[in-house]
Amino acid sequence: MLSIRDLSTSYGQIKAIRNLSLDVEEGKIVALIGANGAGKTTTMKTIAGLLTPDQGTITFLGQRVEGWKPHKLVSAGLSLVPEGRAILGQMTVLENLEMGAFQRNDQAGIKDDMEKMMNWFPILRERLSQLGGTMSGGQQQMLAIARALMSRPKLLLLDEPSMGLAPIVVSDIFRVIKQINQEGTTVLIVEQNVKQALKIADYGYVLEAGQIVYQGTGESLLTDEKVKEAYLGGR
Ligand code: ATP
Repeated sequence: MLSIRDLSTSYGQIKAIRNLSLDVEEGKIVALIGANGAGKTTTMKTIAGLLTPDQGTITFLGQRVEGWKPHKLVSAGLSLVPEGRAILGQMTVLENLEMGAFQRNDQAGIKDDMEKMMNWFPILRERLSQLGGTMSGGQQQMLAIARALMSRPKLLLLDEPSMGLAPIVVSDIFRVIKQINQEGTTVLIVEQNVKQALKIADYGYVLEAGQIVYQGTGESLLTDEKVKEAYLGGR
């Protein structure tokens, strides 16, 4: 579904990712893990069209998409839930969800999806007229995910969805991600919560200083000595 080859992205003189290659197969959950500053967010932003790569190719559903604008990628079926959620705090939950569907005009389909989101995330139904900014962190993350799903993505990119959330809410988020995937959406997830991410992931990539250093199935990375030592507290 997504195939990245030799991708490099810089901020001025700083090369944030270098010659990065990765694949996301349809129907899978793929995790990208690594320490602070390893280049995870840069990778996600480059895929979503928010940053322009210096070199390399991004192929999504058979089309070369590097350099495409974010809205064009959303129309093509690729949607990002950014780090820090970025919900619209001064807009209601309902308006946030509607924003997610702004490029669609199939009113009946939008209505169906709205209903689906409220079934998946019952808290949103209860809070439809509440301002997004007044919700708790976990609720905002649910809203951010639901909003992204309103564009009916084939590939959902999640940048640190569990960041700053209480452990009980973190398990909820991972459960929801697994469910979204089971319902047919392919997922690429960036996480510092390495253990939980690898547990739900079919495949994982480890990024260090802008380069992929290890890769393998979620299970194999979870039991890999080097990964355990560096990212799982040696356990
Ligand atoms: P984090 O989990 O902290 O977000 P990350 O793995 O997502 O880390 P990136 O945010 O992609 O890492 O950063 C990769 C590198 O690029 C780091 O060295 C960082 O300092 C640098 N960097 C990130 N954003 C900018 C920016 N806007 N301007 C300059 N350098 C940046």
